[in-house]
Amino acid sequence: MSAAGTIFSKIIAGEIPCQCVYEDERVFAFLDIAPLSHGHVLVLPKEAKAFLHELSDESAAAIGRALPRICRAVLAATGATSYNVLQNNGSAAHQAVMHVHFHIIPMTTAGGLGIAWKPVHLASDEAVALATKIREALQ
Ligand code: 5GP
Repeated sequence: MSAAGTIFSKIIAGEIPCQCVYEDERVFAFLDIAPLSHGHVLVLPKEAKAFLHELSDESAAAIGRALPRICRAVLAATGATSYNVLQNNGSAAHQAVMHVHFHIIPMTTAGGLGIAWKPVHLASDEAVALATKIREALQ
């Protein structure tokens, strides 16, 4: 799926205003317009891809370098000590804007990310078969 033409491409291009907090050759970060908490920031590759698994190694590496740095700055600026990094892929997984982005969401008394975490049982034979399949897919 192409992410070209999303609102985030327009923000990166400066066609739509935002509160930018970070920019380098491959990465762009700005305040979320509808924050879950004080300091909610979005971190994007400039590469216009919808899903994380579509990213080039270069963009992935650049995001990996920038994310912890921006997390440190958000913590320093807000005084938060706990936070979530969230990255949605696909509308069924709550992705609204089809351009890869990571949410940095400080956890504060006033707000943060709510998670319904409902683990299921994983039988050991099923775990062995599944891990094997994933390792094979990585070849
Ligand atoms: P998603 O559900 O796709 O992971 O999250 C999209 C995020 O983008 C939402 O948190 C939403 O508030 C934010 N967002 C959508 N449009 C804009 C915009 O025009 N400007 C900014 N700053 N954030 C936006």
